[in-house]
Amino acid sequence: MRISFWGVLVMLILAGCSSNEPFPERAPTEKVRAELAKLAPAPIEVDLQGLSEGDRKALGKLIEAAKEIDELFLMQVDPANPKIRKKLQEAGLSDHLELFKVMFGRWNRLVENEPFLDRKPKPLGAGFYPEDMTREEFEKFLQKHPDQAAAFANEFRIIRRTNGKLIAVPYHEAYPVAKAAKLLKEASALTDDPSLAKYLALRAEALITDDYFESDMAWMDLAGDLEVVIGPYEVYEDALFNYKAAYEAFICRVDHQESEKLKRVTDHLHELEASLPIPDAYKNFSRGSSSPIKVVNEIFSAGDTKAGIQTTAFNLPNDERVRRAKGSKKVMLKNIARAKYELCWMPIVRVVLAPHALDKVSFDAYFNHVLMHEVSHGLGPGFIIKNGKETTVSKELKNLYSTIEECKADVLGMTTLEQLIRKGVYTDLPLESIYASYLGGMFRSIRFGIDEAHGAGVAIQFNFLLEKGGFFETADGRLDYDAAKLKSGLQELAARLLIIEATGDYEAAAQLIERYKRRTPLMDRFLRELKDAPIDIRPIFAVEATGGTL
Ligand code: ZN
Repeated sequence: MRISFWGVLVMLILAGCSSNEPFPERAPTEKVRAELAKLAPAPIEVDLQGLSEGDRKALGKLIEAAKEIDELFLMQVDPANPKIRKKLQEAGLSDHLELFKVMFGRWNRLVENEPFLDRKPKPLGAGFYPEDMTREEFEKFLQKHPDQAAAFANEFRIIRRTNGKLIAVPYHEAYPVAKAAKLLKEASALTDDPSLAKYLALRAEALITDDYFESDMAWMDLAGDLEVVIGPYEVYEDALFNYKAAYEAFICRVDHQESEKLKRVTDHLHELEASLPIPDAYKNFSRGSSSPIKVVNEIFSAGDTKAGIQTTAFNLPNDERVRRAKGSKKVMLKNIARAKYELCWMPIVRVVLAPHALDKVSFDAYFNHVLMHEVSHGLGPGFIIKNGKETTVSKELKNLYSTIEECKADVLGMTTLEQLIRKGVYTDLPLESIYASYLGGMFRSIRFGIDEAHGAGVAIQFNFLLEKGGFFETADGRLDYDAAKLKSGLQELAARLLIIEATGDYEAAAQLIERYKRRTPLMDRFLRELKDAPIDIRPIFAVEATGGTL
């Protein structure tokens, strides 16, 4: 249960804060510390041995550039942020400052953007629009000035109001991007990886023109030891329209060994599709190859992706023109996944699993299921025929699509992993460890809520497999699995989900969700026991701790 924030706040104010103190309406320090404790501090370190001299020098510049990205994103969230940070530093409010840094602003991203420095709610459009601009004002303006529509919806322009009139200002004019661009250019000259040099040179140019197409194309071709993403990408921070892209950076080292292992998996894609438990007519042999997956270890991250919950995988670029020409690239951050496994996942699994199952969980089983989940999004029906017309699964399943698709990716992630283990593609991954880890991991998703697609998909799997006897409760109230029943239950659920997708059957999807997407007393009991387990990690980057020296 959450302590009533405003109740405590009122007491604090009545206790008498002097009025010239900064942030007199701030949340109590205790409360701020409790919020910080939800994120387990995680040292993030990457072995840089074997990295070429040129890449190592470039890396120093890239970290500096990423720190500039932190500053740019801070301004995107709230133009007042640099001033607020200074005031917090001067007032010595170290806990509040720490939470401010984690959240990139005065709103708690873990609790629906609850303010913790004053009472001002977060504007829906963050700092991308005038604070008091409404959707109506924006839309009315465009009705009068239809020629401005493209500029106003452009993902790389912010909206300002001057003399009562709205204007669209390009990012490179609105934000101080020159320093980041200069650092990228320097890094480009230092690296001895030609694919990275090309990307960085083009990206440096893009930051000062806001034309990202060529550099996105070059990013798809990165082939060396460093995997670098830097620029404005996701549009979630703009909750008003989802138009405006937020600056972020991932600076990573490629794990060639793991990436190679994945290549062996993708060599089996055709075979995996062929053995799906649906009639041949529904199988789809024409997709899946256009989306390469890379496994990397994160050295540093910045901006949008670092605020609040940490990213373990991303799929970029978002530009449809690049996707059409080159597909998209999925990047899995292995060391971030491991930190979450150790600090957030294991504490949950220790509470939920019976000793028999707990003995068998492993990071490899957990991580490879995540990988096969991603691969499985590319398996099964995509374009389908319904009533004689070509359509897509997502068009037919509408609002239910994400839940069914996420559930499918989890279930096929398991059935395909089983299959690859039997084929000998994975040699040191016991079947028992994937079953135990699969069951154990479910409560991490359920804890985030079952109304969001991933959590909903997991609730369906959990309740379905419990009904089939694949999972069961032991005498002492913990959970265990029955390997044979779990295996057949997974096949049955895979078939149900795939037929729903293949036939675009909205009614059948609704029935499956209605019956199994439930929060049961058993779940509630575990969730109560888990209430103090950390929600996510707070990365402590080794490159930062050493003052940036590599
Ligand atoms: Zn997914």
